[in-house]
Amino acid sequence: METINVLWFKRDLRLYDHAPLRQALESLYATLLIFFFEPSVIQLAEHSERHWIFAKESLQDLQNRLRPYQAHIYIFENEVIPVFKRILEKYKIHAVFSHQEIGQKVTFDRDKQFKKFCQAAQIQWIESKKDGVLRGLKNREGWNEQWVATMQTPTEKVNLTKLKAVHLEPSFFENYGLLNIENQKFTHDLQKGGETLAWRYLKSFTQERIVNYAKHLSKPAESRKSCSRISPYLAWGNLSIRQVYQVMQAEKEKFPFLQHAFTSFESRLHWHCHYIQRFEMECSMEFKNLHPAFDAVRQEVNPEYVHAWQTGRTGIPLVDACMRCVNATGYLNFRMRAMLVSFLTHHLFQPWQAGVAHLARQFLDYEVGIHFCQFQMQASTMGTASQKIRIYNPTKQAEDHDPEAKFIKTWLPELQNLPTYLAYEPWKITHLEEHLYKFKLGIDYPYPLVDIEESARKARDTLFEISKTDFAKRETLRITQKHSMPAYIAFG
Ligand SMILES: Cc1cc2nc3c(=O)[nH]c(=O)nc-3n(C[C@H](O)[C@H](O)[C@H](O)COP(=O)(O)OP(=O)(O)OC[C@H]3O[C@@H](n4cnc5c(N)ncnc54)[C@H](O)[C@@H]3O)c2cc1C
Repeated sequence: METINVLWFKRDLRLYDHAPLRQALESLYATLLIFFFEPSVIQLAEHSERHWIFAKESLQDLQNRLRPYQAHIYIFENEVIPVFKRILEKYKIHAVFSHQEIGQKVTFDRDKQFKKFCQAAQIQWIESKKDGVLRGLKNREGWNEQWVATMQTPTEKVNLTKLKAVHLEPSFFENYGLLNIENQKFTHDLQKGGETLAWRYLKSFTQERIVNYAKHLSKPAESRKSCSRISPYLAWGNLSIRQVYQVMQAEKEKFPFLQHAFTSFESRLHWHCHYIQRFEMECSMEFKNLHPAFDAVRQEVNPEYVHAWQTGRTGIPLVDACMRCVNATGYLNFRMRAMLVSFLTHHLFQPWQAGVAHLARQFLDYEVGIHFCQFQMQASTMGTASQKIRIYNPTKQAEDHDPEAKFIKTWLPELQNLPTYLAYEPWKITHLEEHLYKFKLGIDYPYPLVDIEESARKARDTLFEISKTDFAKRETLRITQKHSMPAYIAFG
């Protein structure tokens, strides 16, 4: 029986700066390249078709680039262990190489089972850390220094000419969900996946688009061009954070007048890993509040409120425009994401759990660690001492960041004929204006679900009262001690 290695691609769909691939290539044995679309993951409420299309586009890009090396990634729509059992009927597996995965409970449980499987079958499973995130930390002492050191270490050199790829016989894997996606075409208006495109986005950002980064960061329309838009490529590992960090450092030298923009971008690369690290250390955040004092409120879900929020029918224009935009395009900037969650959890006073899966399905860049941490952060259930109860006023956000209501009118065409001030607050329309602009509140566009000033006041008072209790203060201290990070990357 031939002895082989297996390279298990996970959310690291690239050929460069790839430690498991480099390790597999340095070994004596030929390597089987493999990827799984696992039914147990596909069926999670947080995933949607757009994620799988992005992954397939990324895989197609890899297949094209592996062809000159006579290599191919075998893609299975199946659970991991049954396929490995089948492989073992033909081959002896020396080692499996992969990146560590910081995912939802389903993938964490799968990894535990896979570890046992490997032990029983005497297979070495060699996992490499991903993006400087460390497994099993008790607190953050020294974390940042290690992260910076990882970012500054040269990227992994992958010499593909050394690749001796294993070729499977498809007939032997009949009924095992072996997929051929080579000629599949996907029609959509979302960002397309793949390492090749990822580099184009990164370069056009660091060499051109960054000029307006700081100015447009919070603007719902302009940020779509002026932010990097690399997040889905990071989520699927088309780029490593280290690659981005090193490109950013090199470009920063060339543009001294853009120091502020580069520094803001650099902080965000830190945050990316910081939140994934936090989730790694507190994975129960997938299900419950990090700060237990807030368990006492927002226990009931109002399905009508949640439906109106998900479909962009709350009657608050910027909220609805953002939701319809992200539902259609898979992208929103940070501030607008934060405002959507704040509106759900403060103004509508719903538990964050009522909305977390919906937005995960819409965001093309869905990244478990960031997403759950940010949801809890914006819902004020995170509980670190630096966290304030932050409630966004959607009308003020619109006035500040969508000056002529262009973004609102793009996504809410029913408000097209209204003057800017009424596009921000259609509930203020008079009887005369309804005739003038041929617009009927309650028919053309819904009445607002809540009075935003009143609902914000109520939420702030309730949450503030809770945060003052002795129990809440003790918990805040505990959480802060475990998760605190250096002040220069912290934000209030
Ligand atoms: C409720 C909520 C949910 C979110 N869910 C996700 C998610 O699932 N996946 C995701 O990648 N980001 C998430 N974010 C963070 C942030 O909004 C996106 O990373 C950012 O908008 C992506 O756009 P960009 O690549 O153009 O960002 P840029 O501003 O160009 O930033 C560059 C990179 O830094 C990282 N980054 C930027 N802002 C943050 C932040 N606040 N926290 C952590 N990392 C950050 C991202 O990797 C991003 O690609 C969420 C934010 C909120 C408020």
